[in-house]
Amino acid sequence: RAKAGHRGTFHAFEPRMDEEVRGRRALEQDLRGALERGEFELHYQPQVDLATELVSGFEALVRWRHPVRGLVEPGAFIPVAEETGLIVRLGAWVLARACADAAAWPVPARVAVNLSPVQFITPGLPEAVAAALERSGLPPGRLELEITESVRLIDNDTNLLVLHAFRDAGIQVALDDFGTGFASLSYLRAFPFSKIKIDRSFVSDIGRDEGCLAIVRAATRLARDLGMDTIAEGIETPLQLLQLRQLGCAEGQGYLFGRPMPGADVPALLLAEPRRVVAG
Ligand code: C2E
Ligand code: MG
Ligand code: MG
Ligand code: MG
Repeated sequence: RAKAGHRGTFHAFEPRMDEEVRGRRALEQDLRGALERGEFELHYQPQVDLATELVSGFEALVRWRHPVRGLVEPGAFIPVAEETGLIVRLGAWVLARACADAAAWPVPARVAVNLSPVQFITPGLPEAVAAALERSGLPPGRLELEITESVRLIDNDTNLLVLHAFRDAGIQVALDDFGTGFASLSYLRAFPFSKIKIDRSFVSDIGRDEGCLAIVRAATRLARDLGMDTIAEGIETPLQLLQLRQLGCAEGQGYLFGRPMPGADVPALLLAEPRRVVAG
């Protein structure tokens, strides 16, 4: 009986796996050409100072302008790009594009760029970052690299050295998705991040969940005591803004202030300052 059950399960899942594999292969092949065809673009989401609601920087978020599927969000292709190693070239393109865009902004705002963990375990990242800065002329202090907490990155001495080299060069390093990943507290002890980004999941429930409120309060205080800045992700309501401000969180990002926008829209927004940024 156990055998029959096993076989049954196997057969039930086989067609779906086939489909999945075929879909992935197609996506993989499509992705390979996308970089050469120039189908990727960066959108920018404003990051604001919570006290004044003035823009302090932008996070660069990659999108794929697919000829058939339209604008594809990173969640649909970054994982495949990571598994196939394409993320290394895509990541280098993102760095170069973001630095060049930011260098041309009419106001010296900061630009935050997401780095994949796969980029870290591939040699050449420091060179790619240095090249992006040099070619664009962007001062290192205006670049912030975001690394996600969702994998154990800094257990590794080589990765730690790379991060220290960034900080020594004056580049800011933020810990993304704080609170969702591994060993948050030991991370903060192991490396002097410039900033921690409190994950959206805590922000979204801050108004109805005492636990979330407590966690955000503790994270903000901890960061402050360690000399790190804090930014809250995914702020959507005025109440969330109010609470985060009261907790002493310095910066925020979310639909309340602005959605990710095409790079071409950024200069106008910067020139409109110091008007308040409104949800778009
Ligand atoms: P992330 O770095 O945590 O980026 C924040 C995500 O939250 C973005 O999704 C953003 O559009 C979304 N978001 C911002 N404000 C709000 C809000 O108020 N409400 C809600 N519901 N969502 C909000 P996006 O652009 O789809 O990116 C998803 C993830 O893909 C990013 O998460 C990041 O991990 C990854 N990613 C994006 N661009 C790149 C890139 O250039 N390189 C790498 N390696 N990863 C990237
Ligand atoms: Mg990020
Ligand atoms: Mg994040
Ligand atoms: Mg997040």
